[in-house]
Amino acid sequence: MTAEKLVVYNTLSRKKEIFEPIHAPNVGMYVCGPTVYGEGHLGHARSAITFDIIFRYLQHLKYRVRYVRNITDVGHLEHDADEGEDKIAKKAKLEKVEPMEIVQRYTEYYHDALRKLNVLPPSIEPSASGHIPEQIRMVEEILSSGFAYESEGSVYFDVEKFTTNGNKYGHLSGRILEDLISGTRSLDGQQSKKSSADFALWKLASPEHIMKWDSPWGQGFPGWHLECSAMSTKYLGETFDIHGGGMDLMFPHHECEIAQSAAANKKEPAKYWLHNNMITINGQKMGKSLGNFITLNELFSGKHALLEQAYSPMTIRFFTLQAHYRSTLDFSNDALKAANKAYRKIMNGMKMLNSLEYSNEAIEKDQALNSEINKIIDDCYKGMSDDFNTAITIASLFNLIKKINVFYLKQKSTALLTQETFENMKVSYHTLVTDVLGLIDEVPINPEGLIKGMLEIYKEAKENKQYDKVDQIRTYFKEQGLAIKDMKHGIDWAYEE
Ligand SMILES: [Zn+2]
Repeated sequence: MTAEKLVVYNTLSRKKEIFEPIHAPNVGMYVCGPTVYGEGHLGHARSAITFDIIFRYLQHLKYRVRYVRNITDVGHLEHDADEGEDKIAKKAKLEKVEPMEIVQRYTEYYHDALRKLNVLPPSIEPSASGHIPEQIRMVEEILSSGFAYESEGSVYFDVEKFTTNGNKYGHLSGRILEDLISGTRSLDGQQSKKSSADFALWKLASPEHIMKWDSPWGQGFPGWHLECSAMSTKYLGETFDIHGGGMDLMFPHHECEIAQSAAANKKEPAKYWLHNNMITINGQKMGKSLGNFITLNELFSGKHALLEQAYSPMTIRFFTLQAHYRSTLDFSNDALKAANKAYRKIMNGMKMLNSLEYSNEAIEKDQALNSEINKIIDDCYKGMSDDFNTAITIASLFNLIKKINVFYLKQKSTALLTQETFENMKVSYHTLVTDVLGLIDEVPINPEGLIKGMLEIYKEAKENKQYDKVDQIRTYFKEQGLAIKDMKHGIDWAYEE
């Protein structure tokens, strides 16, 4: 814990603001989840991990967080547009299964990948298809506010009318309405819209369309943006604290959400808008057509032409956390290998710390050392409180490891520290690594007994100058990703770095 005030970067104001929840200690957070028509990829992981960190840190600060992350299982059309096939229905047709089979399968994949990445489940995970009545009601409210119109069985949001009434559209993403409208009135397949800037709230379903519901406007389905407005209002109220998502959702999705809520509820939905940046692959945008689209399962198994090896879920998690969530993050094999080493270093720090005991030896306390260690711990928390800057927190943890190592190597006695500093070091390291950053030990459970026995044999072999045996044991350790450490005061092991 820290006295430092939490500061968040609000996309809406384009500056850092002090975080003051509307109803402290309660915090409401809504994050746009995936459209479940394909396997999760690095982009999904980055968004999920980013908001997992925010969820974890807010809880660490003793806020009571209700975290809502949706599953889009209907209404998301190709190219994020108002025309074209539903992404899920298209995949279902391709695989000759029911759309809900696609939804079930890829929701499971998504959950499974996130569990491996140690991402905590949200408090509520609502799906669009489970909230049709709420969405129909919201369309009715927007219609009665006068900012929507019915056309050929579909209902569209009237962006021009909305803005001429003094409302803002394009504010979040910095788009200019005139640019969105200019000369595109006769776009193919959009004849039923008055303006190309308008977006669908409800779409008429063609007879062959599978996922459709009865509504006052005939059989149809909700527009993609509507579910988030309807579900965030239902579970978090008309105005809540944080709305999050990937930067790619800023326009049109989040812009439309703001307009819908403002029209239906006469209020903007969220106080703070937080957006995570994108992932690039070897400097290029990730995309199926570019052949650099890597799913999470391919990363975990190493089965992809671009991958030199498999990368564990904790490596991926650590890799993501090494950058601030608003910076771009470039994937490469070298970057992931480096992340794996650094992750292991953090785990070794934990291991060294666990072995340390406080010494009551009667020597004078080293004031400078005490304040140095406490300052490093403060820096860790300052990083988190500065818009969840995990990069700074991790860099400070490495500074702390240097101090821990000195005690571990017995170059200095823990008696130089006050008991308070010693406890602060232990508790803070554990809390930051495990609870806040969500990094867990991936090495198999309890190998200690076995390893200790091996080290005894190693020691004996060394004393008897049986160097073949010594080498053999070292090789064995190496194969397991471990290293033997020969130190002045004894023999120990560590993860290979
Ligand atoms: Zn959304």
